[in-house]
Amino acid sequence: MAKWVYTFGDGKAEGSAAMRNLLGGKGANLAEMSRIGVPVPPGFTISTEVCTHYYTNGNTYPEGLKEQVAAALAGVEAALGMRFGDPVNPLLVSVRSGARASMPGMMDTVLNLGLNDVTVEGLAKRASDARFAYDSYRRFIQMYSDVVLGVEHHLFEDVLEEVKRDAGVTQDTELTAENWKGVIQRYKAMVAAELGKPFPQDVKEQIWGAIGAVFGSWMNQRAITYRRLHGIPESWGTAVTVQSMVFGNMGEDCATGVAFTRDPSTGENAFYGEYLVNAQGEDVVAGIRTPQHLTINGKTRHGSDLPAMEEVMPSLFTELVNIRNILEMHYKDMQDMEFTIQQGKLWMLQTRNGKRTVAASVKIAVDMVAEGVLTKEQAVMRVEPQQLDQLLHPTLDPKAPRTVLAKGLPASPGAASGRVVFTAADAETWAKNGEKVILTRIETSPEDIGGMHVSQGVLTTRGGMTSHAAVVARGMGTPCVAGAGEIRIDYKAKQMRVRDTVVKEGDTITLDGSTGEVMLGKVPTIRPELTGDFGSLMGWVDEVRTMKVRANAETPLDAETARRFGAEGIGLCRTEHMFFDPARIISMREMILARNEAGRRAALAKLLPYQRKDFIDLFTIMKGLPVTVRLLDPPLHEFLPNTEAEQAEVAAASGVDVGAVKAAVAALHETNPMLGHRGCRLGVTYPEIYEMQARAILEAAVEVSKTTGNAVVPEIMIPLVMGKIELDMMKAVIDTVAKEVFAAAGMTLTYQVGTMIELPRAALRAAEIAETAEFFSFGTNDLTQTTMGMSRDDAGNFLEIYRQKGVVETDPFATLDQEGVGELIKLAVERGRATRPTIKLGICGEHGGDPASVAFCQSIGLDYVSCSPYRVPIARLAAAQAALKQAK
Ligand code: ADP
Ligand code: MG
Ligand code: MG
Repeated sequence: MAKWVYTFGDGKAEGSAAMRNLLGGKGANLAEMSRIGVPVPPGFTISTEVCTHYYTNGNTYPEGLKEQVAAALAGVEAALGMRFGDPVNPLLVSVRSGARASMPGMMDTVLNLGLNDVTVEGLAKRASDARFAYDSYRRFIQMYSDVVLGVEHHLFEDVLEEVKRDAGVTQDTELTAENWKGVIQRYKAMVAAELGKPFPQDVKEQIWGAIGAVFGSWMNQRAITYRRLHGIPESWGTAVTVQSMVFGNMGEDCATGVAFTRDPSTGENAFYGEYLVNAQGEDVVAGIRTPQHLTINGKTRHGSDLPAMEEVMPSLFTELVNIRNILEMHYKDMQDMEFTIQQGKLWMLQTRNGKRTVAASVKIAVDMVAEGVLTKEQAVMRVEPQQLDQLLHPTLDPKAPRTVLAKGLPASPGAASGRVVFTAADAETWAKNGEKVILTRIETSPEDIGGMHVSQGVLTTRGGMTSHAAVVARGMGTPCVAGAGEIRIDYKAKQMRVRDTVVKEGDTITLDGSTGEVMLGKVPTIRPELTGDFGSLMGWVDEVRTMKVRANAETPLDAETARRFGAEGIGLCRTEHMFFDPARIISMREMILARNEAGRRAALAKLLPYQRKDFIDLFTIMKGLPVTVRLLDPPLHEFLPNTEAEQAEVAAASGVDVGAVKAAVAALHETNPMLGHRGCRLGVTYPEIYEMQARAILEAAVEVSKTTGNAVVPEIMIPLVMGKIELDMMKAVIDTVAKEVFAAAGMTLTYQVGTMIELPRAALRAAEIAETAEFFSFGTNDLTQTTMGMSRDDAGNFLEIYRQKGVVETDPFATLDQEGVGELIKLAVERGRATRPTIKLGICGEHGGDPASVAFCQSIGLDYVSCSPYRVPIARLAAAQAALKQAK
């Protein structure tokens, strides 16, 4: 008989952390904590295989499950000496969901299950606290009805508000046992009216209803959206954990809280967390009461005047710190934990690797090496390459003037400016129209995920550091200020107010998620610091990395940024960008429109000094590092004068009339310029263009080599070749120019001629091309377009549908299509190396900065990847991780 259920508790467990795929993260870690002697209320986990079975078999359970659940439940009853449904000493349980990857708030937990009209009396007697028992029962009715029976949440809140009003109180805590009894009566009546049948009193029906609801929630819209945003496959499924309840709401010696073993915002090695006395789990995150800090340090730092757990419950605090140390050493990573204290006894309810900002992620990895917990290699594996992006972008300029509107909690660091919107739906609509928005809510809930994702920043007026907004924003790397309580939001009027200042929908504000400040208007930013922990980590990255990382850069600014971010050369310098400058475009147009070679040469002669100066600047900045310069590539129409005024200007400059210019423009029109007269096709038809460019490059190289003493080795790259013949022709032009330049300079230097591989035919003919080419650079943007027959500029219309329908997994222009485009690259690598073993191989498309694509480049043995300057550190880290994985 297959095993579907795994028990834990009492220092033992059938599962373990290694069984995460089967038991989900929560179930696996509860088992692991039990095993290592951390106090965990006993329970059992129904495996993810049951979820898979459920969905592949028309929502039915596998054979044997009922019996295994009954047996496991009996085990819990025996361990605790209580019985499920017992009128005198009833066992209560929670039913919790947990997938392989954590999906915070995505699926709902039901607490206090097992209460009914009879067991509630038993609970009241056992606890000697009728108020607590009725409060627990009404919470259960509320949660169960919402999560399992689908009765709308707000209906319960309306009833509760009425009862409080009638009783003349404002806080839940002021309601008496009798009040709660009344609430229960009204809840039950309301549920019966809504559903046409009474709230289930049978505890078995309750438990199976909850189990079914957890499996059902795997397919709810929130979960589907979250999975799509995070690339989690549907096939993983969720596990269900049934666990005996412990109560943090049985009095003043009870509490519940959440804690991080280190500060999740900064990464500082300081225990961090929040708790509430006399409260049940959900209360801390729900933001209903203001949570208190665990430590005195945290309390002081956040300016809270509520007492810390360290002060209120010192010995339990010490116990918690002890468990913190045990868990962190055991998992060798920062943990995010949930705990509950029932009448002076501490219980752990969850642990997992904590979500953190990227700054914290870097600091924790570096600190853990210093502490001897991790090796440098392990530390390198700990940081998500894509996440580094956040560190490379600007933060608020501390010197810039600002008008602070309000202050909240620094919930997720980083600076963000944008226009205020008050609903997640508006955020999505505005963002689609290209607006940068700040989603502003009283508090967020899982339905808001889509809107949070497209926002520059998130602002809430209620909730703490562990509120939904804070946790989700940190996970997304989106700046967030939470709990800015001075702000009053008026959803109806679409505005918010702080004292006399009113901010309306569409007004611009700035958030500083590192300080909690909310500012009016846009505040200027400064560039980030790359030393410190970041520098240490990147040092280790470079030690283990085997592929080089270059940047795609053409301007001095790009080149300087690239160097600052650690680029080891330029992998793609596009020369056409240099011609768009207003001072040059006119000569460029003159050249294009000239009727004969003499006319073209005259115009090119005017361009030569500019082009030479560009390369002098670039070579000087790059200090002898390799620079690959691509000769003119785009279709000429991109340079053409299209307005009357521009055409008149060109006519005047080249001494012809406007009519002639118009006719020339018309003649150059192409139906499909992407596949038209471009790339080396320009060089073949007008060799003088490439001749001028080669001269500019080589003269600049000679000059910089002479003046700086750094030998420049230019790599001249011919775009869009289909085979060897084009390359041979262009190389001949370059070699002739080189002889002339060297003769005139009285010196020679090494230069290389190579080609871009960006047409399938070139990949296929790589063996032959390599007879001439000293390097290949895979131009994967065009290679993807030409291999898939898909224009990057037009694919937006159908790619998203292709993704949804599963035709493609990801956007092939963002992540390399390894099966198709990758296969051509592999083939070209093999054929090229077979001809010329020393051939230098790199990639220069957008993919060079995409971690998955970088890993592919490592696997096929490329020498380098080249990407945009801001992605260089990401590519360095991705390359290091790929090298470490390959070495394993
Ligand atoms: P989530 O994945 O949304 O965090 P959890 O299953 O962790 O959901 O539960 C939600 C809340 O209920 C948490 O605060 C947790 O500590 C609390 N909780 C869950 N199970 C129990 C239990 N057996 N006893 C007491 N509190 C519980
Ligand atoms: Mg939890
Ligand atoms: Mg190209």
